[in-house]
Formats: sequence, C-alpha cells, structure tokens
Amino acid sequence: MTLAPDASTLDPTAAATALDAQDPLAHFRDRFVLHDEVRSYLDGNSLGRPLRATRDRLPAFVDEVWGGRLIRAWDEQWIDAPVALGDRLGAAALGAAPGQTVVADSTTVLLYKLMRAAAAARSDRREVIADTENFPTDRFVLEGVAAEHGLTVRWIEPDPSAGVTEAQVRAELSERTAFVLLSHVAFKSGFIADVPAITAAAHEAGALVLWDLCHSVGLVPTELDAWGVDLAVGCSYKYLNGGPGAPAFAYVAAGVQGALRQPVQGWFGAADPFGMTETYVPSRGIRQIISGTPPILGMQPIADMVTLIEEAGIAAIRAKSIALTEFVVDVVDSRLARFGVRVISPRDPSIRGGHVTLDHPAFREIVAELWQRGIIPDFRPPQGIRIGLSPLSTSFAEVAAGLSAIEERLAARQVE
Ligand SMILES: *Cc1c(COP(=O)(O)O)cnc(C)c1O
Repeated sequence: MTLAPDASTLDPTAAATALDAQDPLAHFRDRFVLHDEVRSYLDGNSLGRPLRATRDRLPAFVDEVWGGRLIRAWDEQWIDAPVALGDRLGAAALGAAPGQTVVADSTTVLLYKLMRAAAAARSDRREVIADTENFPTDRFVLEGVAAEHGLTVRWIEPDPSAGVTEAQVRAELSERTAFVLLSHVAFKSGFIADVPAITAAAHEAGALVLWDLCHSVGLVPTELDAWGVDLAVGCSYKYLNGGPGAPAFAYVAAGVQGALRQPVQGWFGAADPFGMTETYVPSRGIRQIISGTPPILGMQPIADMVTLIEEAGIAAIRAKSIALTEFVVDVVDSRLARFGVRVISPRDPSIRGGHVTLDHPAFREIVAELWQRGIIPDFRPPQGIRIGLSPLSTSFAEVAAGLSAIEERLAARQVE
C-alpha cells in the first residue's frame, strides 16, 4: 500500500523535539530512574517509574531510621506518618485541608471500609449508585457491600468512550440513595467526570459520594474541600510513583468524620494505640480510618513524589499532561488513523485525563512485539491500548518513538 502524501504531514520526531525544547518541566525527567532498554514507557498510569531520590532513600531509611532508631522511630516519627503524609498530599494535589487525608491499606480495602461506613451512616436508605465501566475492584467490592447490607445497586451504563454524566446520576438519585460511587477519571476512556456537579446532585438527594481518584491523583487537580466531596480514595503506584503495592489513601471530609465508623476497628485506629486498652475507642478525626500497623516502608517513595509535585506544581503538571495527550491525538490522526486506529478517549482535553485509549484489531499481537523492544504501552482486551503519560517522567520524544514503532508494525503487517 502506498501512503497518500498528505496523510503524513506531521513528522512526530521533529514535532517532539520542538515540544521538548519548549517544555518547562522537561528537566524533571532526569529525576527518575531511566534505562536505555526502555525506549518508550507509555504505562505510567499503571505503574509509575521510580524516582532516583527513592532509589537513594530506601537504603538510607533501612540504615539510619529503621536500623538506627529501631522501635524508637514509632514515637519519634512513624506514629504520625500516615496523617502527615496525607496532609502533604492533600495540600499538593487534592485541595484538602489538613486532618482529612490518611495513607493506609490498599485502594480495595479502603473502598470497602468507606463503603461500609457510608452505608451505615445512611442505614435508612436501600440503594447505591455506580457505573458498569468502573474498575473491577470498585464494582466487586460494591457488590459485596451491597450483599452484606441488603442494598440494591442502580447501575449506570455510560458511553464507553466517555463516562458518567451528571444527568445520568440525577436520573438514578432519590431519597432511597445511600451513596454514589464513581471514578474521577475513567480507567478505560480517560474521561473526567464532573465531580462538583455530581457531588452537589447527590447532596441534594441527601446521599453521600465516594470518589475514586486512582487515575487522577497527582495528575488532574481536585478541590475536594471546595467541591464538598464527602469521601475519596486513591492509589499511589500510578501517578504518585509509589511502587508496586504501595499503600493507598483515603479522604474523609471533616464535616462527616464524626458520623462515620469504619468496620475494621483495629488497634492503630484506636484513640490510644499503645495504651493496650480493654475496648476499642476510635481515634478522633481521620486516624480512625487506620486499622493495623501503617505501611511505613511503603510510604517512603510516595513522600518523594509528593515533594516533586510540590516543586513542579499540580497546575503545571496538568498543563503538560494536556500537551502530551494532545500530541498523541495529533500523531494518531495524521499517522495511524489510515491504518484504522481509532481514538476511544474524549477529544476535548478539558474532559480527558492522562491517558489516550486507542483501538485496533491487531493491537494484541503488536503490543507483545513492542514490549520485547522496550516500547511499553498496555493492552486492554478486546483490542485497546492505553497510552498512559506520566507528565514529569515522560518526554515528547519518548511518545513519538512509541507511536512511530506502532506505525511501523501496522505498516509491516499490511506488506506481509
Ligand atoms: C488502579 C485502580 C485500583 C486499584 O486498586 P488496588 O487495591 O490498588 O489494587 C482501584 N480502582 C481504580 C479506579 C483503579 O484505577
């Protein structure tokens, strides 16, 4: 097949060079651990790259803090770490005042705890609202909680290439709704939900809202306090570069903390953890969300990334994220569309998060080939790939290299 000359007007490599030269955040890339073998990392939305600061900090932590201070470190710094780190994250990325964010558990476990707490706080209401396109763990945990509490789930079926709208939520809300569970950025399409409008709609009906921020935290700024959000959770190994299995975080608005009781009442969420008391008395404030011993080791990389976000500024990170996803859409339109590749994410960047989902029947095979060559997007059945772009660690050149490799493979298949 010969390509129409006007179909390839954009030279991705040259365009990327110009964009990298203008990028005020370009220098942050050197703060990450990079390997030459990885020519293009397009999966920062699944597992962020490690920071060099983390590579250096972990041995120092073992040597000096764990090894040197030993059990004394609990009193000296660890006991406050889950809320202290939560407060920093809240200020840098969430729009949350201190005392409302805590680092603990995994997203899955925190979803369970907060859903149970929300269901109990609205125990006179028998329905919950969620959507069929949400991440599996969110749906699975919800089904379990619904079974435990005898709740009916009202499932919204959103447009898979967009996401849940305010109108769809309003259509399901009533005085029977206990809570609404949704994701801020849809993990498949990248669609950004209208958090303030949906939150306000839920409140008008007297329901609570629980937002999953896994695909937005550290990338798309939120104003949780200003938007009146009740509850939120998020993970830290995606755009917070916390590493595999890094702990998650929960946000519980100060205004609802007094009315909520989470179900896993362990000693570390008690008012006096080291008092070894007879009975459980919950800690005041956000600490009561904690159950067992906090994952101090797993918090170290998150702290490094929060420092980087503080330095770069979340608004600048979002601006680069938009530039990166716009670049992907432009390259796809000018170079890949003629092979039948389709963009499944919103084209309007104001409602698109940090990844662009593309669709083509050959992607399953192509991704396997690309991984061997150090080009790493992720494949999502049946035939999608997500181009996930972590703004501080991703260069435009890296994106161009990845998309050019996809173009090459698509072209080669037509000749074969
Ligand atoms: C990544 C992700 C999770 C992951 O939950 P874990 O408990 O960390 O495995 C949950 N929900 C959403 C929306 C996600 O994107």
